[in-house]
Amino acid sequence: MKLILLGAPGAGKGTQAEILSKMLSIPTISTGNILRAAMKNGTPVGLRAKEYVESGRLVPDEVIIGIVNERLAEADCANGYILDGMPRTIPQAEALEASGIDIDCALSIEVEDQVIIDRMSGRRTCKDCSQTFHIVSNPPKQEGKCDFCGGELTIRKDDAPETVKARLETYHKETEPLKAFYESRGKLKSVDNQPSIEATTEVIKVALGI
Ligand code: AMP
Repeated sequence: MKLILLGAPGAGKGTQAEILSKMLSIPTISTGNILRAAMKNGTPVGLRAKEYVESGRLVPDEVIIGIVNERLAEADCANGYILDGMPRTIPQAEALEASGIDIDCALSIEVEDQVIIDRMSGRRTCKDCSQTFHIVSNPPKQEGKCDFCGGELTIRKDDAPETVKARLETYHKETEPLKAFYESRGKLKSVDNQPSIEATTEVIKVALGI
């Protein structure tokens, strides 16, 4: 299964990707997580990406295409993968096609902007392993600490309210046209965000027939 998850920032792509990864035994490739790790490690890609990520703008396509092509060439991607946060522009989607990648489905998680804004203000991300939590809907067992690695939970710089608004604008302008792109290829499926993580997983399973 080669699956693309589409949806606004904060739509729950990362959370659902992680659940589906376990269910289908395929890796999730999250460009956001790869970029944050590169930034933390101060690599050339990280240094280039930093100002874009922190201000809520998109990192240039050629950087993303390079990262993803490299990652998809790794052995664990042989039986499929979930792309979380890529493609985010039409040129990125075209680059995937140009690499001969034939995806099975682009699944869009539909959430209203106001729900996203409320949700992002409660998001907490582990400084060490990037695991995400939410102070209301998915709290960690111990406040401020990651359940998985014990790392410190932080508020991502780009989850600040002004940056969230910029990211939503970017989403509507640059990423939403991908729905029509995949629709025209007969690959688009859409689900509505549900009141809980589990309920959203259920509607996704129905949409994917898994
Ligand atoms: P995410 O964790 O997916 O919300 O991504 C965080 C940030 O990383 C985005 O706001 C962008 O600045 C950058 N980013 C992640 N994926 C991409 C992509 N496919 N294209 C451009 N920028 C990206």
